[in-house]
Amino acid sequence: KKVLIGGGTGFVGTRLHKLLTANNYNVINISRMPAAKNMSWTDLETSGVPSDTSAVVNLAGQQFMDFTKFWTPGFKQNVFNSRVYTTRALATAINKTKDKPDVFVLITGVGAYEPSENNRYDESSPSTGNDFFSRLLVKWEKAADVDPPVRLVIIRSGVVLGREGGMIKNMILPFYLGLGGPIASGKQYLPWIHIEDLIRLIKFSIENKEVKGILNGVAPQVITNADFTKEFAKALSRPAFFQVPEFVLNVLLHKERAMMLTQGQHVTPKRTLEYGFEYKYPKIELACAECAHLF
Ligand code: NDP
Repeated sequence: KKVLIGGGTGFVGTRLHKLLTANNYNVINISRMPAAKNMSWTDLETSGVPSDTSAVVNLAGQQFMDFTKFWTPGFKQNVFNSRVYTTRALATAINKTKDKPDVFVLITGVGAYEPSENNRYDESSPSTGNDFFSRLLVKWEKAADVDPPVRLVIIRSGVVLGREGGMIKNMILPFYLGLGGPIASGKQYLPWIHIEDLIRLIKFSIENKEVKGILNGVAPQVITNADFTKEFAKALSRPAFFQVPEFVLNVLLHKERAMMLTQGQHVTPKRTLEYGFEYKYPKIELACAECAHLF
């Protein structure tokens, strides 16, 4: 069983790699960096999908919550192209292959849904937003256009919670030092998923032949930023009084990017649950306890 993973060297990919190899899959990463079991994006374009590949996953994308990178037109283009072009390159390679994989799993985000305090979203909701991220989402998901009989599964992930990367890695030190606190009013929704559940959901999508289409990769418990702050501080046994004002983030990150933190969406995993996926971390309390463990 061979699985090809675009951007498999990152935060989610490293954990997915471990889970799949433990289950006897042979994993090949497509990476910009050479390594023993990696192939390059140029290799993919010239040689196509390796023979006997049963599943293809795309996790590639320039990280954008990087405080050291300014939100310039060039950087935005990199954020955009690293997702849309890699997804298109994989879809094109799959469509050209005679010996087709069963499934293409693409991980996108809940940025598909317009941030709102009142709207309620599940997988049937239209992506109505007009901001940079929702426009990116439309192009990104369209780029995954694979011909039947290849199954296409698009997982719209919430913020991924895990010690090795993403939001927890950025926040654990200030929270540990007692400098944590809510972002802006804290009332904005925070769609989230524990990394273990995201990689299990990817494996579930690979292995269950009836799964196709869009799945919200979020935990069933809907929380706000303030709820997260409270639970994470509790898990670390620290206070969390230091509210981060919205204008500070707007200045530091640029308003267009800061909205990922200062606004949110009420998203439920309706189809994911209908397919019978069982979460290991359905509650934020459990997820925070795991992320704070040993710290
Ligand atoms: P990472 O930031 O860890 O990056 C994944 C991989 O993408 C990297 O290992 C890198 O592989 C590749 N990559 C980075 N920049 C570029 C680039 N400019 N061009 C081509 N490839 C690039 O991502 P995560 O594992 O955190 O996330 C995986 C996917 O899930 C991403 O698309 C992300 O947008 C999405 N997602 C993540 C969330 C999170 O909270 N982490 C939330 C919602 C969605 P290499 O260096 O080997 O080429």
